[in-house]
Amino acid sequence: MTQSISEVLKLQPVVMKQLQMIYQKQRIAHAYLFEGGKGTGKQAVMRAFVKLLLCENPLQNVPCETCRGCRRFESGNHPNFMVVEPDGQDIKKDQILQVIMEMNKTSLEAGRKIYVIQRADRLNPSSANTLLKFLEEPEGQVHAILLTEKPYAILPTIRSRVQQISFPSIPRDERVKSLIHQGLTASMAATVSMVTNDIEEALVLAKDEQFAQARKTVLKLVEVAETNVHEAMLCVQEDWLPTFKEKEETELGLDLLLFAYRDLVAVKANPDAVCTYPDIMHFYQQRVLHVTYEQLSDKIQAILKAKQQLHRNMNRTLLMEQLMLNLQEGFSFV
Ligand SMILES: [Zn+2]
Repeated sequence: MTQSISEVLKLQPVVMKQLQMIYQKQRIAHAYLFEGGKGTGKQAVMRAFVKLLLCENPLQNVPCETCRGCRRFESGNHPNFMVVEPDGQDIKKDQILQVIMEMNKTSLEAGRKIYVIQRADRLNPSSANTLLKFLEEPEGQVHAILLTEKPYAILPTIRSRVQQISFPSIPRDERVKSLIHQGLTASMAATVSMVTNDIEEALVLAKDEQFAQARKTVLKLVEVAETNVHEAMLCVQEDWLPTFKEKEETELGLDLLLFAYRDLVAVKANPDAVCTYPDIMHFYQQRVLHVTYEQLSDKIQAILKAKQQLHRNMNRTLLMEQLMLNLQEGFSFV
């Protein structure tokens, strides 16, 4: 579903205002290049902008959501809108020819026609060349939106014919709010927004059962690792090792564990800190009373060391047992 303009405005206020002004003045260019890193909201902004362009009754630069244009766009079958993605490694000449043919069709729908080229850095020389002529002289009200995470890989000939719109990265608290708005619990939103800054990827992760299990296992281990070394060893055997079987999974587990210790540092500095695991805030608040910054720093170092050992293919059981002992060090002196 397309996020509402007000939601997208929170994610990318500057870009969205810029596009709304362009719309208000009706100075819509033939072609735009949306460029920005992964997770900067390019898709959400693109969809909101396209919807605005196709809306029949916009009010104050916001689509009405009820007209035929809005409804058809939302249902995914607006005849005046098409999206091209790389077919395999690159975007082929035939795909661009297809776009040109579709856009030139005497459509049943009057008004604007819009095509989107995803990962425009994947245009090969031949498809780019075909597109160039069309970018320069489209027939009628045709608009292109090209998207890329790699602006440096866009051919200069293309670049010179498009209006560039740069997407800055989105602050974490805005990503968390957006994820909660899209149905995640506050605690899951807080966690996945640490693992990735891409909102789409975060949503997928949050719905993944294995990830939920991984998160649960890590939280259990943190609490026992901080209180009882024997229980920690048991937890490694019974919970951790069956959950994190492969090297990649173990790496994710160690990263998730690292976030917990960073939370402890943050909570020690500020009892109301924004955490990766707000659901164990009560545990953090108790625990930080009994542990020094220096000890927390040592524990973080121990986890980073375990990550290095993982890359050197150390036996995972041994690695985790050693880590549990290292996390306990200094405990008796507190
Ligand atoms: Zn509308």
